[in-house]
Amino acid sequence: MMFCYHDGEFTPLEKAYVPLSDYAIQRGIGVFESIRTYDRRPFAPGPHLERLLRSAEQAGIEARDMVARIPRIFKEILARPELPEGEVIMKPYITGGDVMENKRFPRPRLYVLVEPLELPDPELYRTGIALQPVAMERPFPLIKSINYMFGYIPVAGMGDVFESLFCPNGEITEASSSNFFLCAGGKLITAPVGRVLAGITRGIVLHLAKEAGFRIEERCPRVNELETADEAFITGSIKEILPVVRIGGRRIGNGKPGPVTQHLHRLYKASIHKWLG
Ligand SMILES: *Cc1c(COP(=O)(O)O)cnc(C)c1O
Repeated sequence: MMFCYHDGEFTPLEKAYVPLSDYAIQRGIGVFESIRTYDRRPFAPGPHLERLLRSAEQAGIEARDMVARIPRIFKEILARPELPEGEVIMKPYITGGDVMENKRFPRPRLYVLVEPLELPDPELYRTGIALQPVAMERPFPLIKSINYMFGYIPVAGMGDVFESLFCPNGEITEASSSNFFLCAGGKLITAPVGRVLAGITRGIVLHLAKEAGFRIEERCPRVNELETADEAFITGSIKEILPVVRIGGRRIGNGKPGPVTQHLHRLYKASIHKWLG
């Protein structure tokens, strides 16, 4: 069902391995992307792979040639006989490899994991989700790092919380694996790239919202703006647009998914075909 590309070979996922000598294991050095399909075609592969290369470069991993080979690997994956039925997710991982020179990683490893696509429970789009505010920032926000520990620790055991929401010094940046938007006073407010990861979904939502005539402010929303906010949502390639109805102990708006969120999600779904590779 699940398989992995590595070093020119396709193997069942349980047979694939990372050597213990790899800096991914030793020191958490690694970057990745998640690319889903719609109609068995990859969603926004170009932007995802550009971001993968930027992540690697900022982490000191020399991966330009490696990333350049991935589009061809994606094509091979999507033609494999062992490809699961239905939609899939392809996850390229670039690890630090075994060598560190001048605090850089010149010999990285590439893995591309392939899994059946698993989506959030559809009920969550009707009820909305809860986020847990955490008074810290994701370090090196432009890097899509394999290290999610700082987002997971604060919500360990909190079954009703979807993700952590990073809120350093009263400012809201991003959720642990999503971008965050606030709708308040007829405006859409979201943190600027640099304070947060350049989410592909974030970019598309902003583009669609501008086209639809929404007023947009690219700045970090403040935690105290939540009191008067009408709606909030998070974005990501797998979850698309997911309404947020509670943040910590605070209810957002009337506690239900709102019309702006639902409207943007409809626009988003209608535009997906434009982004398929
Ligand atoms: C993956 C991720 C996102 C979502 O990015 P998309 O490109 O929209 O899928 C947002 N924030 C963080 C921290 C992430 O890891």
